[in-house]
Amino acid sequence: MNLQKIEQKWQSKWRQNKVFQPGTGKGKKFFFTVPYPYTSGPLHVGHGRTYCVADFVARFKRKMGYNVLWPMAFHISGTPILAISERIKNKDKKYTKLFHDYVSLYESNKKKVDKIIKSFTKPQNVADYFASVISNDFNSIGLSIDWRMKFNTGEPIYNKFIEWQYEKLMKKKAITKGDHPVTYCVNCENAVGEDDIKDGDTDKVKINEFTAIKFKLDDEYLIGSSLRPETIYGITNLWVNPDETYIKAEYKDETLIMSAEAYDKAEYQLKGIKKISEFVGKELIGKHVDTPIGTNVAVLPGEFVDPDTASGIVYSVPAHAPLDYIGLKDLQGSEQKIKKYGLKAKEVKSIKPVTIIDIEGYDKAPAIKACKELGVKRLADKDLIEQATKKVYKDEYYKGVLNDKCGEFSGLRIKEIKDQVINKLKKDDKALTFYETTRKAECRCGGKVIIAVLNNQWFIDYTSKKWKKDAHGLLTSMRIYPEKYRKQFLDVLDWLEKRPCARRRGLGTHFPFDKQWMIESLSDSTIYMSFYTIAHLIRKHKVKPKQLTPELFDYVYLGKGGVKSLAKKTKVPVNVLKKMRESFTYWYPNDQRHTAPGHIGNHLIFFIMHHVLIFPKKHWPKAMTFNEFLTGREGVKMSKSRGNVIPLIDIPRKYSADLYRLYVTSSTEIDTQADWREKEVASVKNKLKSFYNLCMAASKAKPKKKLDYIDKWIVSRFYSRLKDAKKQGEEMEVRAYAVNIFFKFLNEVNYYRNRVSVKDYNSVLRTIIPKWIIALEPIIPHLCEEINEELGSKEFVSLKKYPKIKKSMIKPGIENYEKIIINLISDINEVVELVKKEPRKITLFISHDWKYELIKKVVKSKNKRDFKKLIKEVMKVKTVKEHGKEATRIIKSLVKDVSRIPKTIIEKSRELETIVQTKDYLEKEFGAKMEVIDAENSKEKKAGQAMPGKPGILIT
Ligand SMILES: [Zn+2]
Repeated sequence: MNLQKIEQKWQSKWRQNKVFQPGTGKGKKFFFTVPYPYTSGPLHVGHGRTYCVADFVARFKRKMGYNVLWPMAFHISGTPILAISERIKNKDKKYTKLFHDYVSLYESNKKKVDKIIKSFTKPQNVADYFASVISNDFNSIGLSIDWRMKFNTGEPIYNKFIEWQYEKLMKKKAITKGDHPVTYCVNCENAVGEDDIKDGDTDKVKINEFTAIKFKLDDEYLIGSSLRPETIYGITNLWVNPDETYIKAEYKDETLIMSAEAYDKAEYQLKGIKKISEFVGKELIGKHVDTPIGTNVAVLPGEFVDPDTASGIVYSVPAHAPLDYIGLKDLQGSEQKIKKYGLKAKEVKSIKPVTIIDIEGYDKAPAIKACKELGVKRLADKDLIEQATKKVYKDEYYKGVLNDKCGEFSGLRIKEIKDQVINKLKKDDKALTFYETTRKAECRCGGKVIIAVLNNQWFIDYTSKKWKKDAHGLLTSMRIYPEKYRKQFLDVLDWLEKRPCARRRGLGTHFPFDKQWMIESLSDSTIYMSFYTIAHLIRKHKVKPKQLTPELFDYVYLGKGGVKSLAKKTKVPVNVLKKMRESFTYWYPNDQRHTAPGHIGNHLIFFIMHHVLIFPKKHWPKAMTFNEFLTGREGVKMSKSRGNVIPLIDIPRKYSADLYRLYVTSSTEIDTQADWREKEVASVKNKLKSFYNLCMAASKAKPKKKLDYIDKWIVSRFYSRLKDAKKQGEEMEVRAYAVNIFFKFLNEVNYYRNRVSVKDYNSVLRTIIPKWIIALEPIIPHLCEEINEELGSKEFVSLKKYPKIKKSMIKPGIENYEKIIINLISDINEVVELVKKEPRKITLFISHDWKYELIKKVVKSKNKRDFKKLIKEVMKVKTVKEHGKEATRIIKSLVKDVSRIPKTIIEKSRELETIVQTKDYLEKEFGAKMEVIDAENSKEKKAGQAMPGKPGILIT
C-alpha cells in the first residue's frame, strides 16, 4: 500500500473531473465556509485540524444529498505581511533566517530559495507565495474545496466590494469619527487590535480609565491616579516611588508631575503636553500636598508603586486598599526608612486609616479585615494582596455605602456613585482622565502597547441598541455547536463597543471616505462569504473593478434597482448581472461557518453584526461550529521557539493525508485540544493498513448468497453502526463517528474473521465494503476512492450518497445472542488468567431454569429501580419463590446496577443452541476440549453461579 501515490492519484482525478465544483439551482444547497488563512507563513498540523473537521462536514453533507459549496480565499490585509517585507528589506537577520527556513520547507533548490526570499521585499510577493503553498497544502490533505472562487483581500475587485460595504455602514450611521482611546503600538505608530498584540486573541487587552487627581504642591500638581475616585475621601498620604524617574511637564498652563513612563504615555493622550525637566522620585518624599477635599497630606516613599501603571503616583487609602494598608504598616514599622528619607517619625506613626465606606457586618475597615482574614502580612505577599483587593472591591461595590465623611455623597451606595465623583472632580478641574491597558502588552513587532487617544479616528460604533438586539436574536436562535460557546458569544456581544476600523498603514482596502487610511484587517473580513458567490463570475465574464459600482452590489446582494438601467450604467451585460444575482440568492445564506473558538471575540462577532446590519433576515447565517486546535506534540505545546512544530507540508510527505485525517478526527472530541503522539499515529497507521488489505482481499470475492447466523450478525452490526454514524455525522460528533464506523467496526470484522472460513469471510465482506467505504469517505477519502475503483465502480465514492439503512438487516436477536459469546470469550480469558494454567478442558454450565423466569420478569418490569415493587412482582413466579433467598440476592444486585439487566428476554434454549453452535470455534480458540452442561443436571458450585446469558465456567 503506497498511500502517497494513492493520495496524489485521487487528488489529481478530483481536480481533472471537477468533482467539488457544484452548479447552482439543483436540489437543496449547503453553503459552507471556514475562515480564510492569513498568508504570512506556512500552516502547521494544528491549523490543519480545523480544515480536516471542516472537510468531514462538507463531504458528509454531500453524502446526505446536499449540493455543497466550500470555497476558500486568502487574507492579506493589515500590517503583518508588510512588517515581514520591511524586515527582510532591512536585512533583519532573525526574520531572514526564519523565512529562509519556511521557504526551504517547500523548495529544495538553494538558489531558488534565495531568489524567493529576495522577492519578499515586495509585500504582495509574500502574500502570493504563501497563498500558493497553502493551497497546495490544502489539496495535499484532500480538502474538497472549490477553488473557482479564490481571491485575496488586496485585489481591486475585493477592494470594490469592501468599499460598498463601508458605504452601507456609513448610511446606517455605524461609522463615526472622533477622539477616542485605542490600543496602540508605539513602534508601529499605529492602532493595534487583538491580531497584532502578542497573545491578544487569548488574553485580551482592554482599556482601563483611571481618574488622575491633581494634588497641589506650591504651583505644581502631582497627579495621583485611581480606578476608584470615590475613595478620595479616605486619603491619608501619597505614594511616590523614591527610586524612579519623575517628570515635570507643562499641560494647559499648569505644571504636572508624573512618572517618566506615564509621561511617555501622556504624550499620546494629553494633546500638547510638554516636558520641562526630570528628577528622581525621592526629591518629592516628605513634601506636603493639598488634596481636592481640603486636607493636606504627606508624600511618602512607596517602593511598591509601579511607575508603568497609570501616572506612577498613587494616593493612599489604607482603610479600603489592602496594598496601601500593608505599605503604611511597613513604613511605620521601619525606623530605618523613616530616617533614610528624613521623615518625622511622629507624623508618620500618627497616620490612621480613615474608613469612609460602611458595610453591614463589618467591625473594622474593609481592607484591614480582608488582610487579617487572608493572612496578609508583608508587601511581598503579592498574590494575597491582590486577592484581598478583589474581595474588598467586591464587598464594597455590592454592599458598601459612603458614610458621613464623604460630604455631599454620604449615604450613597458605591454602585450608584462612581461617575458622579468623577464628574464633580472634572468639573472643578481637579482631575484628568488617564487611560491604561488592562495588562502589560507587546505588539507582534516587539513594540510596547499603550493606550493612545487618537484624534479624528474612524470607528465602527457597535453600541446601537437596535443593532445589538438583532444580533442577540440571531445568536440565541441559530445553531451553535458545541453549545457551550453560545454564552461566550452573548458575553462578547454585551461588551462590544466602538472599534477603530482604519489604520495609517497596511495592505487591503483604502478607507473610502478618507483615502489616506486603510481599512483595518479584521474589519474587512466580516461579510466576505457573500463575495465567494460572485467572485468566479466576475473573473469568468471579465468584469473590471471600475464596473463594480455600489449600485451593482446593491442589485446583486439586496435586489435593489432595475437590471437594465444598471447594465447600461456599468456596461456589464444583463445576463451576467442576473447570473450574479442568481448565484448569490441560490447560495446565501451561509449555512454553516466552521472555525476555532478563539475567533469569537473578533471575526465571528463582526460576522454576525455586519450580516445583521446589511442583509435582510433571510440571508443571515444559519449555524456556527467550532473545534479546538491540535496544540501539542507528545504532551508538549508546539511552538516555533521549541522547534517542535510539524508543518502541514510534512503530512503527505512523512505520514499520509488519510492517516492524518483519521488521527485528528478520532483522537479527541472537537471541543478539546488535541495532541500529536507518534506512537498513536503509528497504531492508527496499522489499522489503516489492515483495513486496506482486507478490502483488497475481499474485492475479488463473489458475494455470498445465503447468509449463515454469524454472517447475519456481522451484516447486522454493520447496519446498526451505519445507522448510529448517520446520527453522529448530523450532530457533528466527528470523533464518535470515526470510532464507531472505523475502529469499532474493524474490531468486529476481525472477530468475525475468526468465526468463519476465509472464503465466507471475503464473500460476505464483499457485500459490506461498497457501503462501508461510502461511510468512511468523509474521513479517509483517498483510500476509499482506491478501494471503490478496485471494486469496479465507475462513480467517485466522494459523490455517492450515504447508504440506505436496511432495517430488515438489523437483527437485535442475533446481536444479543452473539454478545453472549463475545462476553463468554472475555470471561473465559479472565478465568484462565486467574487460574494461571493452560486449560485442558473448559466446562460451561447453562443457568437454572428458574433464573430465566426471574430475568424475564425483570426485563418486562417497569420497576427496575424499585427493589420493593420489583421483588413483589418477581416473587409471583412460583419457581422463583421456591428459591426465595437466592432470588432476593440476585434482584438486589440487579437493582443496584441496572446496566446488568439484559436489554431483551433471553431464551434458555436459544442460548444453549448458540453456544453449542460456537463450540468448535471456542475449542480452537482456547485449544481445549469444551463441554456444555445444563445446570439442572449438575451439582457443581459453578453451575449454581451461572446466570442467563452468562454461563458458569469451570477450567480443568
Ligand atoms: Zn508594533
